[in-house]
Amino acid sequence: MENCLFCKIAEKGIPAKIVYEDEAILAFEDIHPKAPTHILIIPKDHFASLNDVPEDKGDLLGHILIKARQIARDKGIAESGYRIVLNTARDSGQDVFHIHFHLLGGRKMSWPPG
Ligand code: AMP
Ligand code: ZN
Repeated sequence: MENCLFCKIAEKGIPAKIVYEDEAILAFEDIHPKAPTHILIIPKDHFASLNDVPEDKGDLLGHILIKARQIARDKGIAESGYRIVLNTARDSGQDVFHIHFHLLGGRKMSWPPG
């Protein structure tokens, strides 16, 4: 997808601090971290948001969650706790329209979210 920031990161056209990669997904550090651990996990294929993921891509979404759990373990926050956030469309505050899961941890978080 042209002019998509996260497609460019997936294609290595823009640098990022990559923490995990396989054929389907990429995980990298958020450039403006909102917690001591703040990692973004994306599919390499472009989908603007969860609203745009086809019904038959459930395995891909599940794969992202299983790898998010592994990254949380690797970062040492699995036991202390973490939050996975999937902002979708305008009211959520989604800024980058290539679906991305936030993995946040390393501090106590409040609820409900703002
Ligand atoms: P959202 O508001 O859910 O769309 O989140 C977008 C996230 O992307 C924000 O947390 C930004 O800090 C992050 N971000 C924007 N540009 C970059 C970049 N070049 N590398 C890493 N993270 C980025
Ligand atoms: Zn994209």
